[in-house]
Amino acid sequence: MKLVKENIENINKYEPNKKPYRIKLDANEGENIFFSDIGDELKLNLYPDGDSSLLRDEIGKYLNVDPNNIVAGNGSSEMIELVMKAFIDKGDIILSFIPTFSMYQIFSQIYSAKFIGINSNENFVQDVDVLIEEAKNIKPKIIFICNPNNPTGYLMNKYEIKKLLNNTDSLVVVDEAYIEFAQGSMVEYISQYENLIVLRTLSKAFGLAAIRVGYMVSNKHIIDIINKVKSPYNLNSISQYVGVKALREKEKMFQYIEEVKKERKYLYNELKKFPIEVYPSNGNFIFFKSEVSKLDEKLNEKGILIRSFSKDLENYYRVTVGNRWENEEFIKSLKEILENEN
Ligand code: PMP
Repeated sequence: MKLVKENIENINKYEPNKKPYRIKLDANEGENIFFSDIGDELKLNLYPDGDSSLLRDEIGKYLNVDPNNIVAGNGSSEMIELVMKAFIDKGDIILSFIPTFSMYQIFSQIYSAKFIGINSNENFVQDVDVLIEEAKNIKPKIIFICNPNNPTGYLMNKYEIKKLLNNTDSLVVVDEAYIEFAQGSMVEYISQYENLIVLRTLSKAFGLAAIRVGYMVSNKHIIDIINKVKSPYNLNSISQYVGVKALREKEKMFQYIEEVKKERKYLYNELKKFPIEVYPSNGNFIFFKSEVSKLDEKLNEKGILIRSFSKDLENYYRVTVGNRWENEEFIKSLKEILENEN
């Protein structure tokens, strides 16, 4: 299957000037008149590095991959959109298990693709053989694997994903937004396959959702195509700076992950004590079913926000793993609500 669109293949990438200079008068930039301290250090009057070079170097060290195999941008959300922009023609099919991260479907609609969701099995287990069969029949342009899956927390193992890659020529996008809370990243296989893209983010395990840093790891051919459709200065200097700093102190993130795993276990065990269906999770959230309808609204009355999936899956909810105090408050409020129902 020819993956890349002809109009994209022929684009000459916009190349910002990266030559050394004594006086810079090439890009119609202004002077730094605000924030004299950080403004000078971060060169706030100049356009950011369009390639996010330093940031990609640090990501490269973190993942043990060549920075040339990385594109960085505004969250993994931008990365999902760039994949569609580069590869999706009107009417193409996009395949994924459901329930999953809703943006795959939303971007499919925006890019006039047809989104097809395969139901997960009982307990939200995803059967790779069913996915492979479906892909053979409907020949999707892109298959999205959210791993671990949001909202169910289900994790496909590497061997299953490799089996999929060995049995399809569709583009396989593995969204690893939550992989730091699990194991089994596909990053190490990016050069082995022509059709593998891995998406990652600093929004979850690094706790930096506000700076909107996400990135894609893939083979050089795909990275070159993505760079053609990416806008020239997609990631601002402040985010690049903060991202670099965080990656240089990544030990903190490893500690934080251990904390979240401990709290996830606590929350899971507490939820199990209630008449609630709880699903094991590999992310920083837990998916559950309670027969209490509008549980999210009842919790909200007590000042606690959780996510309801009742629009598609009645009485299913997702709670983020918080710190011990937040988790205790959530459990306490849940207990009050459940007792009130009886
Ligand atoms: N992928 C998944 C599976 C997510 O859950 C999210 C955020 N909820 C994203 C991607 C987007 O994250 P960001 O744009 O902050 O990197």
